[in-house]
Amino acid sequence: MKLLFASSEIYPYAKTGGLADVSQALPKALYQKIDTYSIMPLYGFIDRQKHKIYPLNRSFYINLGADRYSISLYQGFNKGVKSIFVYEDRLCDREYPYGDELKGDYDDNDIRFAIFCRSIVEVAKMYEIDILHLNDWHTALSALYARELYLNIRIIFTIHNLAFQGVYPKSTMDRLGLDPRYLHQDSLEFWGDINLLKAGITYSDIITTVSPKYAQEMLTPEFGCGIDGFLKLHKEKIVGILNGIDTFLFDPLSDSTIPQKYSRYSFYKKRENKRAYCRELGFDESLPLFIFVGRFTKQKGLDIIIQTLPKILDLGLNIAILGEGDMDMALKLIDMETEHDNLSIVFGYDESLSHQMYAAADFMLMPSSFEPCGLNQLISLRYGTIPIVHPVGGLYDTISDIEDIDSQICGRGIEIAKLDSDGLVEAIKRALDIYQSYDILEEIAVSNMACDVSFEDSSQIYLMNYMES
Ligand code: ADP
Repeated sequence: MKLLFASSEIYPYAKTGGLADVSQALPKALYQKIDTYSIMPLYGFIDRQKHKIYPLNRSFYINLGADRYSISLYQGFNKGVKSIFVYEDRLCDREYPYGDELKGDYDDNDIRFAIFCRSIVEVAKMYEIDILHLNDWHTALSALYARELYLNIRIIFTIHNLAFQGVYPKSTMDRLGLDPRYLHQDSLEFWGDINLLKAGITYSDIITTVSPKYAQEMLTPEFGCGIDGFLKLHKEKIVGILNGIDTFLFDPLSDSTIPQKYSRYSFYKKRENKRAYCRELGFDESLPLFIFVGRFTKQKGLDIIIQTLPKILDLGLNIAILGEGDMDMALKLIDMETEHDNLSIVFGYDESLSHQMYAAADFMLMPSSFEPCGLNQLISLRYGTIPIVHPVGGLYDTISDIEDIDSQICGRGIEIAKLDSDGLVEAIKRALDIYQSYDILEEIAVSNMACDVSFEDSSQIYLMNYMES
């Protein structure tokens, strides 16, 4: 059996968030069990030399509407996984995968990702693929194209975040040369527009999402992002499979980006990382260190963190925030940073800084309003950093409150009982209490480090879903 795993971002080639991590870690967990290929666009910013990406001398044309596109294929290896890259000027000749912070998404992303989707199906034919695993709206049209060509192929479609659906005006139908019969509410039509995510939902054999809890939540109006009704029609084929992380990449015992390596057996050495990081920022290292790493959006609860900061910055703690996204949020944070020596804000994307922060911190903040799975809490468990979470989606499935002694969940942290500023203050105060009894903190952190956050178990569940007929 041959598997083609398609994603618009795969670490280390391109990463804007958890999708890239999963698109690296899951194929890596699978490739020894099934013949696995991954496929992504060869964006212009990818360093071909550094990543040893070479032309495959295979090229073809695809037609979308009145336009013809010339596709070339490239190949590399990602920790043993054969990685195929699709190159086409319009798809790839960009500075970022989807758009830039200031101007927003590129306005031809419908065409760009349709080029990718059509190419994925050509590659599936070329390589005689049996199972096509698609991820998020950027790859969703491949399901429709594969059905149009009557490919004998099993299609798994994974929803990583329902907030992103690829909604475009009806004119996209013509731009992509899609048959008008798809402009129907049982297919791509969505409140007068077209919704590319619906292609994945409609034409796949199995829909997975990244945690069991989110699989339930996404069928409700509260979390369904307007598409819960349509998802309910397909609920028989929805499965929630928990994400994992690459535990070799995120391993404090071998992480070359952190000053002091450590494990659960030498947890005391983690302090060296805190010391080094606090010195760099001019923080008092005797105080507890809280971090936030992630997109500046309401989803991640950054609005609540911003409201809460004035109430907590005098409580004897340090807070370090790394992320990018909403500019207003960033400006508010930078304003506060100038008035508080115990607050550090880094606006941008910095992989190695994020590792240093996970290694240095005592606590990690995740007041997400919704969280399909979330990887930050898994990385935090691995680095002995106690997560403070709002128990939704994958946070509900992976972290139990330290007071909940009956819980079967391995990862322990502090739950934010009510998601508002007072709720966050209360959770942070509980964290400060734990910090006062450092033995307890250490016991929790060390037992968290023993939790299995790898993709091992979940990759078996994916395999079962690949095989089922
Ligand atoms: P998302 O919803 O953004 O995909 P996840 O929790 O699933 O969130 O995954 C986020 C991943 O991206 C984690 O590996 C996290 O450490 C990383 N990350 C997010 N923002 C940044 C940033 N600004 N710099 C470095 N790494 C980041």
